[in-house]
Amino acid sequence: MKILISGAGIAGFTLAYWLKQRGFTPTIVEKYPSLRKGGYKVDVRGTALEVVRRMGIYPDLLNANVKLKRSQFVTPDLKVFEFEGDILGHPSEEDLDVNRWDLSQIIAMACGEIEIIYGDSIVQIEEKVHFEKMSPRTFDIVVGADGIHSNVRKLVFGDESTFLKEYGVHFCVFPIPNLFNLDRSEIVYFDKGKLVSAYAAENHSFACLAFKSENNLLPRENLKSIFEERFKNTGWEIPRFVAAMKESNDCYFDTVAQIRMPAWSKGNVVLVGDAAHAASSIGTSLAIVGAYILAQEIEGDYPTAFARYEKSMRKFVERGQNLAQSNLQIIANAESSWLIKLQLYLMKLLPEKFIRLSSKWERWQMKRAANSLKLDSYVDPGRNPRE
Ligand SMILES: Cc1cc2nc3c(=O)[nH]c(=O)nc-3n(C[C@H](O)[C@H](O)[C@H](O)COP(=O)(O)OP(=O)(O)OC[C@H]3O[C@@H](n4cnc5c(N)ncnc54)[C@H](O)[C@@H]3O)c2cc1C
Repeated sequence: MKILISGAGIAGFTLAYWLKQRGFTPTIVEKYPSLRKGGYKVDVRGTALEVVRRMGIYPDLLNANVKLKRSQFVTPDLKVFEFEGDILGHPSEEDLDVNRWDLSQIIAMACGEIEIIYGDSIVQIEEKVHFEKMSPRTFDIVVGADGIHSNVRKLVFGDESTFLKEYGVHFCVFPIPNLFNLDRSEIVYFDKGKLVSAYAAENHSFACLAFKSENNLLPRENLKSIFEERFKNTGWEIPRFVAAMKESNDCYFDTVAQIRMPAWSKGNVVLVGDAAHAASSIGTSLAIVGAYILAQEIEGDYPTAFARYEKSMRKFVERGQNLAQSNLQIIANAESSWLIKLQLYLMKLLPEKFIRLSSKWERWQMKRAANSLKLDSYVDPGRNPRE
């Protein structure tokens, strides 16, 4: 069976790895001319940890684990609160926190030899698959693993606006010099409608600028200028962040959003990872687990295989998305709901106690959602026991 995967990201490579294990020879097409660099640290949690163990890459990820020792919160009046561990990411003790670029490289390495077509993109899916540059080719299955703004989803399922739930929060992630001499620690600055953060670990340091806006969508051009304008006349060390963003040629811009779809497959086309169910905060783990399950289920009769993949994943994805959504609502509705007003009030009154307590609660919820799917029915990593 010839399988084409659109997107050389976390889901694309995880899927390719497992398809290879099952004896398939997948091909990947990636829009960018090389493996895409960039990104902040992302979490590998719960069931996804079992998948990376089965892939044999757990020790490499453990090596790359950022595992924050400390978090510092800076308020607009420049009060600094310091906490042990990672307060923002809500990781459990066993979770891994890896820079996205490290994670992509480790999964890509594990894949070994594989056909990857860089710098091209699918333009049409009919009996043959048509590409921007390459001549048409025939595939039995096409998988959209091309991220939150999936091209395959647009071509086969329709316009992104039907599935995209946005929260009006725009962010930019970029490498930054280690301005605060951080050592496995993160610094976060909050102000009304704005969040600025940076972390550093081992040999890398990344920052994020985020702001809330009335506009859900930003124009794709001049994003650096839009961010510069938004963070103009802001205090603390923000001008240095903006300067680093302007200098960087490795900025990743996007909008905080989720993808919610009634079905993840149509005919011989199926979606995986963010393309199917972008979630925010738990999206990487969902993508890893989804790619694993899809690879285990793919067989000759693909509609049945896709239906089984979706049945296994649906509830797990919904739990993750609902949890992430309730956290996102806090940012999105920062001034409207009484509950949020109360939270903000408590945060002013008892900042340390409040942050510690709410972090504990969020960690517990995250752990529950991230572990809510068991892989017991896929015992032998190479074979689907239902065969
Ligand atoms: C450069 C980058 C930086 C990121 N940084 C962060 C971050 O800081 N924090 C965070 O939470 N999440 C980040 N993400 C998203 C995060 O990687 C995903 O939410 C999660 O890991 C799920 O992975 P995915 O494989 O489904 O999607 P992604 O990791 O987004 O991978 C999608 C892949 O598809 C490729 N692609 C896009 N369009 C096409 C096309 N037309 N044809 C072929 N290929 C295409 C992309 O270039 C990318 O390689 C980032 C993604 C990217 C690409």
